[in-house]
Amino acid sequence: MLYTTQLAQVKRMPKGIEMINITAQSAIYPWTIFAPSWNLVNSYKQKAVTEKEYTDIYTEQLRKEYRKNRILFEQIISKALTGNIALACYCPAGEFCHRLILKNVLQILEPRLIYYGEYPANQSLARLHCFDRRTWR
Ligand SMILES: [Zn+2]
Repeated sequence: MLYTTQLAQVKRMPKGIEMINITAQSAIYPWTIFAPSWNLVNSYKQKAVTEKEYTDIYTEQLRKEYRKNRILFEQIISKALTGNIALACYCPAGEFCHRLILKNVLQILEPRLIYYGEYPANQSLARLHCFDRRTWR
């Protein structure tokens, strides 16, 4: 199964879901091929590129990587078909993030791949109902 998640959720992640860090800052080889370039990350932070431009540039980067490292795309797809993986980045759930672009590309490459959404689900609802018992009198 394929999930996406925020890296900050790592402690809540069940052992059965393998988190795959795809960030420019801390991705681990060989999954660094899925990280956006620093140039793209910085351009986006400085609002020099729009979400649409970011999407086009990152998708093109993935296309190039696919030509060079098809085996790694096949490996990650195979992991998601036979086990559970979560594509992870720093961005909070619900925000524009390249993990969703990669998720879309993987689903185009392998239509059998089912996306189970952001992990954990309904994060904002969970937070809404979370009281601190010590201050709740
Ligand atoms: Zn992100």
